[in-house]
Amino acid sequence: VVAVLFGPPGSGKGTQAAALAARLGVPHVATGDIFRKHLAGNTDLGQLAKSYMSAGKLVPDEVTCKLVASRLGEPDAANGGLFDGFPRSVAQAEWLLPFLSGRGQPLEVAVNLVVPDDQVVTRLGGRRTCTSCGATYHVAHAPPGPGDTCTRCGATVIRRPDDEDAVILQRLQTYHAETAPVLGVLRGAAPVHDVVGTGTIDAVAERIARVIPA
Ligand code: AMP
Repeated sequence: VVAVLFGPPGSGKGTQAAALAARLGVPHVATGDIFRKHLAGNTDLGQLAKSYMSAGKLVPDEVTCKLVASRLGEPDAANGGLFDGFPRSVAQAEWLLPFLSGRGQPLEVAVNLVVPDDQVVTRLGGRRTCTSCGATYHVAHAPPGPGDTCTRCGATVIRRPDDEDAVILQRLQTYHAETAPVLGVLRGAAPVHDVVGTGTIDAVAERIARVIPA
């Protein structure tokens, strides 16, 4: 299966994609997670990505597409993958679609998680993320363990630097200017299901399961 989980920052893509990928038996390919790993490991790519990420801007397309091509070359991606946070620009989409077709695995389906801007701001402003396993929390709705620890792995839970208020607004602006137009490109290639992204994690997962049954 080759699928895309699309939506603004804070729409729950990461949470839903992890569950959906497991259900579909394909790897969860999240470019933001890959960039954060490089950042933590202080690699050259991490160094390069850092300034863009902390400013709420997109890492250049060429770098990002190369990263995805190499990720898809790994053995676990032989039968496809679920993309989360990619493609994020029209150029990335126009690279990805022929690349997938060339592998004999064209894009099959996409889900567009619809969440209004004001909710994005509350969600990301209150979001806390585990520095080790990436689990996410929300200060009001799903707080981390005592002393800001991860209830899953015990590591420290922090506010992501790009979840600071000023960067949230920039990320939203980047989303509307550069990422939202990707939807038109995807709709030309495969069915794109608009799914209401508000409500509980389970409620959203159920809506996704209705459009992408196992
Ligand atoms: P995310 O975790 O998906 O919110 O991504 C965090 C940050 O990583 C974004 O704000 C961008 O700076 C960068 N990033 C992630 N995915 C992409 C992509 N497909 N293209 C360019 N930049 C990306």
